[in-house]
Amino acid sequence: MSDGLKLGLVGLGKIARDQHLPAIAKTDGIDLVAVASRNAKGDGVANYSDLAAMLAGSPELNAIVLCQPPQARFEAAVTALSAGKHVFLEKPPGATVSEVEALIALARKQGVSLFASWHSRYAAAVAAARDWIAQTTIRSIAISWKEDVRHWHPGQPWIWEAGGFGVFDPGINALSILTEIVPDRVSLLSATLEVPSNCQAPIGATLTMRTGSGAAIDTVFDWRQTGPQSWDIIVETEAGTLRLAEGGNRWFLGDAEQPVGAEEEYPAMYRRFVDIAGRNEIDVDLAPLQLVADAFLCGRHIATEAFHD
Ligand code: NAP
Repeated sequence: MSDGLKLGLVGLGKIARDQHLPAIAKTDGIDLVAVASRNAKGDGVANYSDLAAMLAGSPELNAIVLCQPPQARFEAAVTALSAGKHVFLEKPPGATVSEVEALIALARKQGVSLFASWHSRYAAAVAAARDWIAQTTIRSIAISWKEDVRHWHPGQPWIWEAGGFGVFDPGINALSILTEIVPDRVSLLSATLEVPSNCQAPIGATLTMRTGSGAAIDTVFDWRQTGPQSWDIIVETEAGTLRLAEGGNRWFLGDAEQPVGAEEEYPAMYRRFVDIAGRNEIDVDLAPLQLVADAFLCGRHIATEAFHD
């Protein structure tokens, strides 16, 4: 065991098993010491049913990662920050903008690190695309994020409840890339939200946005896509067309695919967390969450047929 971060993980579910456990295992300077989950247990670590029990039983912990659905994130983050631990938030960092602002203030008061992770920003092609775009002028952007919710989110009732984000759960990944690659501030102009009659969250959404310099951004999020899935952002610029595909992991200039490094979103995020925790730094960008909040604020609601998993 290293002298670095001693981590406790909360919410041992799909993303924790798929991404967090392997990424933690390959990151220097951080060790998984304990897990708090109501219905699951981690191998080779201390296990607890909730965060309070974990903090009491494993006082050596100095960092906590929160991998539950967003509705449960705030209370747990307050508990962990109040106990003086560095905190890593899965995306989205909270169910509301104001609660994340409160967490920033609390982390600052406690002198600990707070990391709002946006995993898609660490996709293999995003940094290169951002740097290329910075050398030219954007004319327009089109985002198409279309996937099959039954394939990607089976048996996740929280995602359809208030605060569960619905199609904005994947859509916020597109918005996190958008707000990373556009050099100036993005603002939302209008939105439509298609909400199944038996749900609190949308299954489809369209957003009209603009960049600070006035370029139009048209966005479609749809969870009813069977067959080929799309996670594409097309940026028309004065220097030609740039396309980010596969959630930011591939990029093309015109038809020519550009080289990228290995795909390692979660290991890169854990390296970042270890780094900022060493300086008690806060890395929380609210821009993607603010755009989702704005869409819920001004969006026109369209009732659609009931959704059954
Ligand atoms: P999940 O498997 O449904 O939930 C994770 C764990 O959280 C569950 O196993 C459960 O553990 C606990 N949990 C569930 N509902 C809860 C509630 N209402 N209150 C407290 N704890 C609850 O979800 P997930 O797919 O891992 O997603 C979790 C977060 O990661 C979401 O914010 C999501 O946007 C993000 N994320 C997911 C993916 C993905 O591919 N799934 C990718 C990137 C990011 P216990 O019952 O054992 O406590």
